[in-house]
Amino acid sequence: MALIVHKYGGTSMGSTERIRNVAKRVAKWHRAGNQIVVVPSAMSGETNRLLGLAKELAPSSTDSAYTRELDMLASTGEQASSALLAIALQAEGVGAVSYAGWQVPIKTNSAFTKARIESIDDVRIRGDLDAGKVVIVTGFQGVDPQGHITTLGRGGSDTSAVAVAAALKAAECLIYTDVDGVYTTDPRVVPEARRLLRVSFEEMLEMASMGSKVLQIRSVEFAGKYKVPMRVLSSFTPWDIDLNEEAASGTLITFEEDEDMEQAVVSGIAFNRDEAKISVLGVPDTPGIAYQILGAVADANIEVDVIIQNLSRDGKTDFSFTVHRNEFQRTLDLLKSKVVPLLGADEVVGDTRICKVSIVGIGMRSHVGVASRMFKCLSVEGINIQMISTSEIKTSVVIDEKYMELAVRSLHREFDLDQAADTIVA
Ligand code: ADP
Ligand code: ASP
Ligand code: MG
Repeated sequence: MALIVHKYGGTSMGSTERIRNVAKRVAKWHRAGNQIVVVPSAMSGETNRLLGLAKELAPSSTDSAYTRELDMLASTGEQASSALLAIALQAEGVGAVSYAGWQVPIKTNSAFTKARIESIDDVRIRGDLDAGKVVIVTGFQGVDPQGHITTLGRGGSDTSAVAVAAALKAAECLIYTDVDGVYTTDPRVVPEARRLLRVSFEEMLEMASMGSKVLQIRSVEFAGKYKVPMRVLSSFTPWDIDLNEEAASGTLITFEEDEDMEQAVVSGIAFNRDEAKISVLGVPDTPGIAYQILGAVADANIEVDVIIQNLSRDGKTDFSFTVHRNEFQRTLDLLKSKVVPLLGADEVVGDTRICKVSIVGIGMRSHVGVASRMFKCLSVEGINIQMISTSEIKTSVVIDEKYMELAVRSLHREFDLDQAADTIVA
């Protein structure tokens, strides 16, 4: 008997018929003698619908009185889907009980709309599991020290599932979704993308942080920290397929590098359209500029991603960086009102029509010239690179948004991902 956590995303929970299907699948695993905890997302479109209603009443704001209510509101999506799944399981003849995050409790900090999980009490869940029930825990939410409901950021049910699996020391966390695994890139953008049988935890972390939304980045961080075995698989296979076949399907996130994996220089391509570029032009080139610009941005709690500083000419330089598009206007306003006058810079300009494309692979450690192959491929396509950032296992470029698909497809071909080695892809 094993304790296994299943997570079902919004599309998988998208209608009563799909919820019934999920219930049948969960019942199959339960009848096979496993203890099952299920973490569902809200039904697809529900979180957007709820947040849209709030926007109709008042423009979005970072004020905590407002974000508290957003969490109060958005958390209801998962509460509804969890109760519906419990009802569907009971209809299948399986004892089931659902809990909202605060009932477990899943304790978080108070950062509304992007809270971080601090601890999970496993007593209640274990009690029900020992009584033979399937336990359903709402994804995406928790409760802060003052008792306010919090949510974990969009896509946060992945993180709830992995955190619950870590707290229960589950044998595995199965992330059921609308694709049958992690692909070399988003299969919606590149139809030739191939499924990876295994992907190393480090690569998955990099892909998620560079924009592959198949897993929320925090969930991968949790899996790494607590060594939670994790698999991404399809919820759209017939519910009654052989359990062992299902258990071996999809993509396994592995913690060891094996020889097969080293064969691929680049394992995946990620892209992100959520960033915007800001440039401070004509900054006097003196020590401390980066600190003065980025310090002010950090003090306003705005996260910065790619950064470049140009060589100076005539004692002046340009400084550019990217932020999330949601923070674009706030960053511009902050720089114009506070930083530019202080530094005596010429002006601040911004561009929201950019995207970041990244190649990711642990094979990059042992191969030279990977980045230049990427740059050459983009230049052949006539794509201008605006910014570059590298780490040991990834190279990212910031380019004009209109070239995103072209760049991803060309790089996918360039690094032979259309025909990746049989050892790593299905
Ligand atoms: P869920 O609702 O189940 O959480 P998501 O929409 O959050 O599902 O994540 C699944 C989607 O992630 C897929 O439909 C796919 O379009 C997208 N995706 C992006 N990058 C990848 C990738 N490398 N491999 C697989 N899917 C990806
Ligand atoms: N329902 C939440 C969202 O749409 C959380 C999730 O689906 O993971 O972002
Ligand atoms: Mg998701």
